[in-house]
Amino acid sequence: MARVYNFSAGPSMLPLEVLKQAQTELLDYNGTGQSVMEMSHRSKEFDDIIKETERLFREVMNIPDNYKVLFLQGGGWTQFSSVPLNLMTKNGKADYIVTGQWAKKAYQEACRYGKARVVASSEDKTFTYIPKVKREDFDLEADYVYYTMNNTIYGTKFNYIPDTGDIPLVSDVSSCFLSEPVDVSKFAVIWGGAQKNVAPAGLTVVIIRDDMIGHAMDITPTLLNYKTQADKDSLFNTPPCWQIYITMLVLRWIKGLGGLDAMKQRNEKKAKLLYDYLDNSKLFKGTVVPEDRSLMNVPFVTGSDELNAKFVAEAKAAGLVNLKGHRTVGGMRASIYNAMPYEGVQALVDFMEKFEKENG
Ligand SMILES: *Cc1c(COP(=O)(O)O)cnc(C)c1O
Repeated sequence: MARVYNFSAGPSMLPLEVLKQAQTELLDYNGTGQSVMEMSHRSKEFDDIIKETERLFREVMNIPDNYKVLFLQGGGWTQFSSVPLNLMTKNGKADYIVTGQWAKKAYQEACRYGKARVVASSEDKTFTYIPKVKREDFDLEADYVYYTMNNTIYGTKFNYIPDTGDIPLVSDVSSCFLSEPVDVSKFAVIWGGAQKNVAPAGLTVVIIRDDMIGHAMDITPTLLNYKTQADKDSLFNTPPCWQIYITMLVLRWIKGLGGLDAMKQRNEKKAKLLYDYLDNSKLFKGTVVPEDRSLMNVPFVTGSDELNAKFVAEAKAAGLVNLKGHRTVGGMRASIYNAMPYEGVQALVDFMEKFEKENG
């Protein structure tokens, strides 16, 4: 069967070039006679892979030298606990900006370890916008301020970095990782699960400023303490080797296309195509206020559950898959991460036009 255009929110599409490269090397990586899946994480070959991956991460994201790049397991949810366990340790307080389910879960988890506070929320309008938060809004005693840069489920994105003054800033970038340039120096911790925009599920990358390491609560499980892996260059125990290898290939792919500036341009062009169509359609409608729209996740509705279901089913038959919205939101959602080519979005828009003609 031909490959489909996969609009899944995660795990999601990977670049075809990367998959083909992995296929070529699947049985014999670099003349070693083994797959990366079979290799010892203590081998010279794997050491070269993890080192190149880190080097490329630093280069592509322009990460300053006083930051560590950690390759961890456990997914997003583990970071919901790791962040407070490691950072909520001076005054036992933290401020959370709640712009969606993932931010809310992170906040709820933090409440188990200290005094987490919701400093702003967009739940009043089902998370369809990003609240404007100012420096005065934050508690000067907060050990950190936490927010989700791109809201995967609702399709909103912060188009500003909150000004927290001297309070360390933490961001979950899972669904916009490597999609555009970010000024890492503005953050104490940036972390993201790989399965949205970087690699297969099973890897979480934590970019953390050196001075944030080494203050974890006593109760912190060994593997959730950032210091454990920071001291061992992410090789304290077995890392997700295969995912790190694919990350290396994805970073090479991004670099080859011109880096994050080029990714941003590509992503803006794709998103514009879809949003322009939605803005002019009489049947389909975007659900997010225009100024806070995500470049990665685009939710939309028809206004009828029946038509939504019909659309998702017919799109699937046409090779446009995983367009059903999140179970808590309904409607449709097209996730158009880095690996989705412009042609994929064009195919979706063409299909929507046809559907609109037939059902409008
Ligand atoms: C998917 C996602 C998560 C949850 O990640 P898991 O690895 O499934 O725990 C957290 N935050 C954001 C922004 C996400 O998109």
